[in-house]
Amino acid sequence: MPKKYHIEIKATPLNFDYIFKFKIVRGENCINCGKCTKVCIYEAHKRRADDPRKMADPNTVVCRNCFRCIQECPRGALEKSLNKDFTNAGGSFWKPDLLLSLWKQAEDGKVPVSGAGYRGPFTGTGFDGMWTDMSEIVRPTRDGIHGREYISTSVDLGRKLNHLVFDAHNKLVSNIPDTVSLPIPLIFDLQEENLSAKMQGVLLKAAEEIHTCAVIPAGKITPELEKHGNSIIPLVKMPEIDKYEALLKKARLVAVEYSNDVLKDVAGLKKKIKAINNALVIIRVPADKDVENTVLKLTRSGAEIIHIVADYHGEEIAPAGDKNKRLLKNIIRSVHGKLVEEGIRDEVTLIASGGIGMAEHVAKAMLCGADLTAIDIPLLIALGVRIYEEPKEMLLFPDNLEKFAPGALTQRIVNMIGAWHSQILEMMGAMGIREARRLRGESGRAIFFEDIDRDTFGKLFKKEAVKK
Ligand code: SF4
Ligand code: SF4
Repeated sequence: MPKKYHIEIKATPLNFDYIFKFKIVRGENCINCGKCTKVCIYEAHKRRADDPRKMADPNTVVCRNCFRCIQECPRGALEKSLNKDFTNAGGSFWKPDLLLSLWKQAEDGKVPVSGAGYRGPFTGTGFDGMWTDMSEIVRPTRDGIHGREYISTSVDLGRKLNHLVFDAHNKLVSNIPDTVSLPIPLIFDLQEENLSAKMQGVLLKAAEEIHTCAVIPAGKITPELEKHGNSIIPLVKMPEIDKYEALLKKARLVAVEYSNDVLKDVAGLKKKIKAINNALVIIRVPADKDVENTVLKLTRSGAEIIHIVADYHGEEIAPAGDKNKRLLKNIIRSVHGKLVEEGIRDEVTLIASGGIGMAEHVAKAMLCGADLTAIDIPLLIALGVRIYEEPKEMLLFPDNLEKFAPGALTQRIVNMIGAWHSQILEMMGAMGIREARRLRGESGRAIFFEDIDRDTFGKLFKKEAVKK
């Protein structure tokens, strides 16, 4: 059995001034009797250090919503209410509950539990309208999760051969392409202008610890960051390759922004990068209306890895106001399907990104046809950043972020990915899939709400399919 991939988690609570769903408020009618200090086992209620005759403000951070203090206060002075700051955060995609869940995962590295008593919807747009076939949940594959069998989350980047060719003397004549293996099907790709060099270092260190890579624009790679060489994927435009030659020499993967010049000469681009250092080339393509054709043309021209980049909502890159933007789920399915039709699927690795906000999105994107995913916004959320979608997208960094030790911030990202890894293992075990490589395009394990809706009710009610 190969050595098991393991992510070391460690509880790392940091004071980021979180916003919580509910807040406990102590009213004016409190008589400072102190009963709440005794009934709350989480010590949310304490007396003031400067004047022990009075009660301090309740510490909502540690509250676990048992309501005992509220029930037992002799004066009915305690109230638990929905926090407006919480409901105003996030938006239609990055919902406040998702932010809270990611903060928690970054803090303790544990799998969030939402199954028992779940009262939310079982469908929605995007990945929410996609279910996975968990019928193996009671079968022996579950042993993988509990340690008796190994479930591998490794994936390979690069072209793959679909058969080997031998000559008349049984000598292998196929040229085996180079690949890069990663133990988890995700890379980091956070293209955020306001990220300091310290935070880039935190991201890279976290990528290094979990043995994956982070895409960083070559112009932002300082000598200090260069020490994470193996984990950096420098991002360049085609004309910049010579300028960054020294940097590319240390990389095993190089990302290049898509342009017409790239499309015209994929072979020349690869040759040039391989002459510097035998690195594999990732071509970063916007997920626009023509993405299928772009991917087909690039693959036929020899592209080995293509990264399809949707917007931060997981929607197609399209002019503002376009009401027919496709969702990442459907874009991946379409691109994957076209490559399969053409018989060239194994010639290229597909990375998908944009709106990957939960562990289940990673597995679902792969079931739709991606080989792996790239994540962005969750990395910031792990660092205590709040996202607001309305009236326009805004990221709110914690005031004190730069003051925290880089090691603690790194650990929070590692914790979040550790929690995601556990969840991916759970999903794979329940689906009866022991290798992440087999998730790609395994549509037999996926159930799409819009397909069921159309097939079941479409004929009866002529109901239109939900948003594609
Ligand atoms: S139990 Fe009620 S009255 Fe007593 S200290 Fe707590 S909040 Fe105040
Ligand atoms: S609701 Fe429960 S956990 Fe929260 S402060 Fe009151 S007693 Fe403590």
